[in-house]
Amino acid sequence: MDGPSFERPRGPISVAPAVTGERRTLLSVVVPCMNEEEVLRQTHDHLVGVLLKCPGNFEIVYVDDGSSDSTLAVLRELQASDLRVRVIRFSRNFGHQVAITAGLEHASGDAAVIIDADLQDPPEIILEFLAKWLDGYDVVYGVRTERDGESAFKRGSAKVFYRFFSHMTDTQMPVDTGDFRLLDRRVVDALISMPERDRFVRGMVSWLGFSQIAVPYHRASRAAGTTKFSLFKMIRFALDGIFSFSILPLRLATWTGFAASGVAIAGIIAVLLERFFQVPGLVKGWSSAVIGELFIGGVQLVCLGIIGEYVGRIYGESKRRPLYVVRERIGFEARNPVAASARQAMVASGKR
Ligand code: UDP
Ligand code: MG
Repeated sequence: MDGPSFERPRGPISVAPAVTGERRTLLSVVVPCMNEEEVLRQTHDHLVGVLLKCPGNFEIVYVDDGSSDSTLAVLRELQASDLRVRVIRFSRNFGHQVAITAGLEHASGDAAVIIDADLQDPPEIILEFLAKWLDGYDVVYGVRTERDGESAFKRGSAKVFYRFFSHMTDTQMPVDTGDFRLLDRRVVDALISMPERDRFVRGMVSWLGFSQIAVPYHRASRAAGTTKFSLFKMIRFALDGIFSFSILPLRLATWTGFAASGVAIAGIIAVLLERFFQVPGLVKGWSSAVIGELFIGGVQLVCLGIIGEYVGRIYGESKRRPLYVVRERIGFEARNPVAASARQAMVASGKR
């Protein structure tokens, strides 16, 4: 561990008034939202309540990931009453991981916290994250010790996935973590400089290294609304994680090829034994031939599919499209009041 950086405040953060010219620490909180109208106000009040207890300043960056309900209207309302709120509105749904990335790209804090909009991650834990950050850690991630209100299938599949993932990849990703975490500015900068499109943020953060520490927490059930992750989305997310962090599936394809060839060689030997040594009953009619063909055909298609997964990803990367499209940014002028008033003056004078 390289210890706390010199720019990081140690101990209680200075809350000296701005007139002294001393800059107060800024914490950014990134909240991806998709159709969260039922819970957003409650989340915001809860978050602000906790953040007011933190030393330094804070901003909350909400990312509206193509909601079709009144999420945007609620966010506008929150922003109008609180200048610490910023809103990024996507042109359509780009997905949770992309929303997190956009939030981090727009965050200007000395550290950033990623938290879901549904209060499954308790905001109080942010205080523990901050304490660890002040101790000098660069990444503080939440580890779910208990998970309420999630189906046995979801809990079981998550458990299997995280264990499977750590076997499949060289990246040591801690088990039972989500994206609820605090990242130091240096980690945020490193993360957003990674250009890949398949963004499996928790894996990317593990890959980055730095000094990381876990904070255990109890994952509550959703405060309101329903999960936005269908089974299909969950499977895609899991596959994204594996295919963007491991080429082991390609090796598995090779091994399967060798295994199938081994079976074929065994078959050839059986035929030769029967033919030359008259060992009876080894070759049983047409069914063995057809089963063999189907087996090889199946193996070949699976291997093609695996190769296809990687080729598809290369295709996606090669198009070099932007990761997301922003339709509107709200509240970012508030960061720079001088620029904001200059812009307002320009708008008023009809220059824009
Ligand atoms: N989310 C998003 N885009 C999506 C799906 C989800 O921004 O396409 C947000 C959602 O609003 C929530 C977070 O991601 O803040 C986690 O989603 P959810 O709670 O539905 O997932 P779960 O906790 O059930 O895995
Ligand atoms: Mg949730």
